[in-house]
Amino acid sequence: MQYLTNIFFIIALIAGIGFFVMNIKKLSRNIKLGKDVNRTDRKSERLKNMMMIALGQSKMVKRPFSGFLHIIVYVGFIIINIEVLEIIIDGIFGTHRIFLGVLGDAFYGFLIGTFEILAALVFVAVVIFWLRRNVSNIKRFLSKEMKGWPKNDGNYILYFEMVLMTLFLVMNATDPTFQQAGIGNPISQFITPLFDGFSADTIHAIERTAWWIHILGILVFLNYLYYSKHLHILLAFPNTYFANLNPKGQFNNLESVTNEVKLMMDPDADPYAMPEEGAEETVPEKFGASDVTDLNWVQLLNAYTCTECGRCTSSCPANLTGKKLSPRKIMMDTRDRLEEVGRNIDTNNGVFVDDNKQLLNDYISPEELWACTSCNACVEECPVNIDPLSIIMDMRRYLVMEQSAAPQELNMMMTNVENNGAPWQYNQQDRLNWANEE
Ligand code: SF4
Ligand code: SF4
Repeated sequence: MQYLTNIFFIIALIAGIGFFVMNIKKLSRNIKLGKDVNRTDRKSERLKNMMMIALGQSKMVKRPFSGFLHIIVYVGFIIINIEVLEIIIDGIFGTHRIFLGVLGDAFYGFLIGTFEILAALVFVAVVIFWLRRNVSNIKRFLSKEMKGWPKNDGNYILYFEMVLMTLFLVMNATDPTFQQAGIGNPISQFITPLFDGFSADTIHAIERTAWWIHILGILVFLNYLYYSKHLHILLAFPNTYFANLNPKGQFNNLESVTNEVKLMMDPDADPYAMPEEGAEETVPEKFGASDVTDLNWVQLLNAYTCTECGRCTSSCPANLTGKKLSPRKIMMDTRDRLEEVGRNIDTNNGVFVDDNKQLLNDYISPEELWACTSCNACVEECPVNIDPLSIIMDMRRYLVMEQSAAPQELNMMMTNVENNGAPWQYNQQDRLNWANEE
């Protein structure tokens, strides 16, 4: 009988981890749909960013209250899960609290005691997060893009955390040997009296139930991550490592356009020269981005990493002045479209079949794109170094260069730059006329 539970545990573990690995492969395949971009330079700077921002949460504390609570949940969640290692070993081999014998009373008690305190703190922090999301009128949680699934997703994960922390404490509280030893139970000792009067068998059944639901809950949580904004728990690390290190506001030039301009400026160039052999067959590269596959893989990684916290949107001058643009929505739309493309590939045996849809217009409108002031506030604010502006600029580039669909005011300005070398509608010779005006 004992073996049956061990076998069931091993099957649940393999199924949970196997499904997770399958989803991670899908995630990686989707990110690789993006264009290549080289982010292998300046390794020590990248590593430092990752340690400071993803591990050290340095950007979170810019908003101290929510940042502090987030650090409690983050640290608590990671540290408490060390305990999962003991649960896994116990589950596979049918042992009970195997680390107690290995680590000794004092150290084991210290560890579990720390986990219990952290579990209680995480529970309190999560309740405050729930109140902020559902009771307080915090504008960034009430935006249009946060209705439906994004709101529910945020709440589900909070419920998950509350339940997991409770189960951990109940598991300890209903373990008579652990409680009698009096080590590492600073919180659970106050829960134990709730079970006074219960028979030993009932208490044992409650302890086993809490133990099983706790570990199965963790496996479900692991697999829920792929469908949730909580992927950032994992992706914040690569995302901060591969983030753009160039100064904010520095845009890349299109190589094909640069070459054309160089050719125009080169006095020795022959405009009537025959094109190189085979050049006619080369499909010219698309300018800018109209769909997710035109973006680079770091932009797609950004989309999966977005925590939907809305810090970017709450600092966006366009959004604050009532424009349609929300940088958070740009990231959420990019992820939704990428997921749609991924599902299309899955259902068509690994090949994308045109669905007559794209990121531009079907998800993100030109009105949103043109509302951006390119101020970089969203990039600066993002706690995990996401760059919504780069997606906006690539999509604008497509509108201008592929569709000539810039707003009229911009078209006039660009015509002036082309004709007059300046954004104004004056001939270059007339530029200083104002100085002679009476
Ligand atoms: S760069 Fe654009 S999207 Fe980002 S904060 Fe500024 S205006 Fe908003
Ligand atoms: S882009 Fe960054 S700041 Fe904006 S919602 Fe996503 S994680 Fe938050």
